[in-house]
Amino acid sequence: MKDFTLEVHGGHSYDQTGAISEPIYLSATFRHPGFGQSTGYDYGRVANPTRNALERSIALLEKGGRSWALSSGMAAINLVMILLDSGDHVLLSEDLYGGTVRLANEIYGHYGVEFEYIDTTNLDLVRRKMRPNTRMIFIETPSNPMMHISDIEALSGIAHEKDALLVVDNTFLSPHFQKPLTLGADIVVHSGTKYICGHNDVIAGFLVVKDGESSLAERIELLVKSEGPNLSSMDAWLMLRSLKTLGLRVERQAGNALAIAEWLRTQPQVTQVYYPGLPSHPGFALQQKQATGNGGMISFKVTSPELAKATLGRLKLIAFAESLGGVESLLTYPIAQTHAEMPRELIARTGLDDTLLRLSVGIEDVEDLKEDLLQAMQG
Ligand SMILES: *Cc1c(COP(=O)(O)O)cnc(C)c1O
Repeated sequence: MKDFTLEVHGGHSYDQTGAISEPIYLSATFRHPGFGQSTGYDYGRVANPTRNALERSIALLEKGGRSWALSSGMAAINLVMILLDSGDHVLLSEDLYGGTVRLANEIYGHYGVEFEYIDTTNLDLVRRKMRPNTRMIFIETPSNPMMHISDIEALSGIAHEKDALLVVDNTFLSPHFQKPLTLGADIVVHSGTKYICGHNDVIAGFLVVKDGESSLAERIELLVKSEGPNLSSMDAWLMLRSLKTLGLRVERQAGNALAIAEWLRTQPQVTQVYYPGLPSHPGFALQQKQATGNGGMISFKVTSPELAKATLGRLKLIAFAESLGGVESLLTYPIAQTHAEMPRELIARTGLDDTLLRLSVGIEDVEDLKEDLLQAMQG
């Protein structure tokens, strides 16, 4: 089945009532039919029917063997990091979500895992940086917020040559536009809070593996059961509801984003536009090869830090807020918000500076969005 169909029907199975909408099972525990027997559900931390329906849908959409619906994107990334042992070495994109850097450096760094941030668009550099103890390559593509495009297929080849895992944080494109597992990645993680939710009303995360029967899947199942980072059934239902319109939302967001990116390039207050759907973007060709859309995220630089800050204060329609992926357009200032805790030397290397703004394009009328940006930049 194709994505638009999977998004609507994916993991749903009809119960005896014929309910079209997945029932919300608010049950923490489940009655056993008899000794040694189970309905398949024993205790809510381990499995819940509503959550399982969501997990089936996400696995189908990502073309994975198994997925876990979790309480946040960070819960998913934590499950990835906890697969590591002290003495392991990990290569990460140097331009990525600030919370991932914080988890790596401030939590797992103390357990003796070594994290090295490099430009993962440079395949020769990645090859040179692989060590005998490199267990994992962790990337975002497009990266956050500089929108660099890394080659998922080539990186999976480099990782597998050395028995390392390739992990892709697929939050920025959602499974509707990019399916890293089909390009060789071993694990996909999502902040479900963003495009999959799409309405800025649930915090959620996903982890998906290619092979649902692998020792990797078994290990993750053990971790999930032991640590309890699962999504509640109520939130799982909200995510199932959101998922039904994922394709509609992200296709419109991408259409709006392309129009705004092209328009921003013509504005005198704008010095740089970073959007992988623009043919002038250095990753354009690769993006068109490995994804079916360019997403709704645009970063751009304005002529001065003062103008960047003033623009945020003058917005009327677009909200000055962190986060992304929702139907409402949001503008954020990465250096002081999403990336405030990034080590300064890492920030400097990526080109992220105090003139950079990041726009998450919503589903509003594109002319209204341009008008708001124009009045906010002009003052
Ligand atoms: C928001 C975000 C996360 C963290 O997800 P939460 O749901 O906020 O825990 C991870 N990666 C990316 C790319 C994000 O945008």
